[in-house]
Amino acid sequence: MIVFNEVVKRYPGGYTALAGVSFEIRHGELAVLSGHSGAGKSTLLKLIAAIERPTSGSVSINGQDVPALRPRAIPYLRRNLGLVLQEHRLLYDRSVYDNVMLPLVIAGHPARDAVKRVAAALERVGLAGREREMPAGLSGGEQQRVAIARAIVNRPTILIADEPTAHLDTAYANEIANLFKSFNAAGVTVLVSTHDERLFAQHSPRRLVLSKGLLQGVGA
Ligand code: ADP
Ligand code: ADP
Repeated sequence: MIVFNEVVKRYPGGYTALAGVSFEIRHGELAVLSGHSGAGKSTLLKLIAAIERPTSGSVSINGQDVPALRPRAIPYLRRNLGLVLQEHRLLYDRSVYDNVMLPLVIAGHPARDAVKRVAAALERVGLAGREREMPAGLSGGEQQRVAIARAIVNRPTILIADEPTAHLDTAYANEIANLFKSFNAAGVTVLVSTHDERLFAQHSPRRLVLSKGLLQGVGA
């Protein structure tokens, strides 16, 4: 469960990106975070991943107070979170296989099982057999699917994605939206931000709408 209580985030320099945001996302929900550019969507997701700290208010994940975590504990938090963030680019000098394997290597996962998990994650995103290819040779939609495979290879219970359909044309964007729906159907709690809510409308998600750092009425 993800719980925000009166969360304020002010960046150095004084810009208030979140002005007092409260919501709960329960286990197994599919939630879509929308809002204009600059509304605070990325900031909200970074607070969940402990990439940014709130100025005030509380953020908790599965009962853990995220800003209170010691630096040492943050990798353990992230192991349970699949993250598809804008700044987490693929490694372009490594193969698809190496990119997806990376989180398991970092986690010290046993090698034999890791190989199976990479294959399963690539299968899940429709890229079975593409292990040896380099990311630069893939389409934008395929690269995004590699990033998603990398995010789920640890079998996280929560999947967070920041505008995973940005820069994709409608057909690819719909495929990505369907993919998030399928993870949610398998029991994963999903929170995804988008500038185009219509992509997820058919999946009846929980809606969180940010405007100028505040959540709007619906679903809040
Ligand atoms: P969105 O993802 O909805 O476009 P962001 O969370 O990226 O919104 O940004 C919200 C506001 O916070 C924007 O005005 C942005 O310029 C500002 N902001 C984001 N990151 C930083 C930062 N590291 N330092 C200062 N201001 C920032
Ligand atoms: P396997 O059991 O062989 O890993 P699955 O089809 O169950 O194959 O899963 C394939 C991949 O999809 C997993 O390795 C994992 O990355 C992801 N996955 C499947 N189900 C879940 C789940 N409930 N939570 C998180 N990730 C999942």
